[in-house]
Amino acid sequence: MSSAGLEKLRMTGAGRAIAALTSGGDAQGMNAAIRAVTRMGIYVGAKVYLVYEGYQGLVDGGDNIKLANWQSVTNIIQLGGTVIGSARCKAFTTREGRLAAAFNLVKRGISNLCVCGGDGSLTGANIFRAEWSGLLEELVQKGRITAETAQKHGHLNIVGLVGSIDNDFCGTDMTIGADSALNRITEIIDAITTTATSHQRTFVLEVMGRHCGYLALVSALASGADWLFIPEAPPEDGWEELMCARLEESRSKGCRLNIIIIAEGAISRSGEAITSNYIKDLVVSRLGYDTRVTVLGHVQRGGTPSAFDRVLSSKLGVEAVVALLEATPDTPACVIGLSGNQAVRLPLVEAVEMTKEVQRAMNEKRFEEAIQLRGRSFENNWSIYKLLAYQKPAAVQSEHSIAILNVGAPAAGMNAAVRSAVRVALASGHRVYIVNDGFEGLAKGAVNEVSWNQVAGWTGLGGSLLGTKRTLPSTCMDKLVENLNKFSIHSLLVIGGFEAYEGVLELVEARGRYDELCIPMCIIPATISNNVPGTEFSLGSDTAVNAAMSTQ
Ligand code: ADP
Repeated sequence: MSSAGLEKLRMTGAGRAIAALTSGGDAQGMNAAIRAVTRMGIYVGAKVYLVYEGYQGLVDGGDNIKLANWQSVTNIIQLGGTVIGSARCKAFTTREGRLAAAFNLVKRGISNLCVCGGDGSLTGANIFRAEWSGLLEELVQKGRITAETAQKHGHLNIVGLVGSIDNDFCGTDMTIGADSALNRITEIIDAITTTATSHQRTFVLEVMGRHCGYLALVSALASGADWLFIPEAPPEDGWEELMCARLEESRSKGCRLNIIIIAEGAISRSGEAITSNYIKDLVVSRLGYDTRVTVLGHVQRGGTPSAFDRVLSSKLGVEAVVALLEATPDTPACVIGLSGNQAVRLPLVEAVEMTKEVQRAMNEKRFEEAIQLRGRSFENNWSIYKLLAYQKPAAVQSEHSIAILNVGAPAAGMNAAVRSAVRVALASGHRVYIVNDGFEGLAKGAVNEVSWNQVAGWTGLGGSLLGTKRTLPSTCMDKLVENLNKFSIHSLLVIGGFEAYEGVLELVEARGRYDELCIPMCIIPATISNNVPGTEFSLGSDTAVNAAMSTQ
């Protein structure tokens, strides 16, 4: 939101009262969300109440519902879990419990509620909203509140924020906590890989996700895992042979480490559970490989929230308050989600229904549909994982060649981008060259053809394995063009920061002088400073912010 937009909202919530609670499983970033709702609420002039222990606090009332001030949420943005507590509350699933909750809110003049939780919590909030006027009527009949109070607070506005490490809610690109959980998983994979490589091991890593394979999928993508089991895409029958053959093949090509990632809810095509121990026993009995199972439990919820989660929660929390201010009895209850980099309002009922539909699709073995229902980004991650995990012979060999180079300062993610580009190009039948030391290396002929396996294991490595330099092409144009000719390079992929932009611009401007430069050129922005045009995020910036925070 622009600062002018924010300025217009100042004090527009005067006279209103907002309650905020966290419910269901905890997730890193919930505190940042509560902080944002509290402070934005205060900014717009509303009274903000924090409800402790989720719906249980709402039902019990008393000290569980506390008026907050600006300092109440000081120093919590960096904390994992939720400082106001979360609980599963049976009472709230009954009308009687919700009657108590309504009384506790209305007697404090609260008719705006922000719930941060999973789809269960949000469904509960919506039921509460639908019943609200009936609940108030009953309270009037019982003489617990006056008709005047009931009329004054006749409608309950609710807004949801999805706190869930599983990223299992349809309609939002990310849920609060998922990025931190992924960071935790990645740290553990990095730790295990060092020891596993030393001993030539296979390791089976089980991550959370009883119904949703997001964490398993993205950590498999991020670690270049050999095999992945997620509930949305059970393996074809006969997968045991295929998996063992693939592991054997990668060993025969010199790979010392195999990673298999499994979501805890992994199933076979017939709906039977696939367990991490079953996979281990399979690998041991068929291949005799030293195989270890690691089951990641609550550590995935633990630790501090990532920078992404803190920013996400702050952004969504601010929007939640705006949504409450703008709500009328006719606006459907909404959830604040993320689309691209923007906070968006989603209709709560439809989003919950779509989330449930994914489970129905899985139950009814409509697996392709389940993947589609998870959303574009899930589907995209799944396609990329499959494309990059295993080399299938290209349908046709093209006559085309591509050279890939890194330019400027190193940034985390450069190596993963090189691996991905190399493999995508090879899968399409192109010849691929990697170039050391940027444009300078291209001019010096540091150009080597690359194979699929040469980039194995590159996703988790920082810096630039190709070597990167800031030298611009103008200092070595003739030699650079000579090598484009010598190696018959038909396209250039430049991964880097501002020097990459400048360098490619120089090459484009020199096209009048050199026909060899009349080729497709493409840049992938990679700079920790995130200061290049055309993208909201450049490679390396997220890792850099996390690193900066952890050294504070
Ligand atoms: P999550 O929000 O993480 O999906 P749960 O499904 O356990 O977690 O829900 C958390 C709490 O939300 C429950 O303990 C209950 O108090 C409330 N809740 C869940 N579903 C409903 C419902 N259908 N009606 C009323 N309250 C509900």
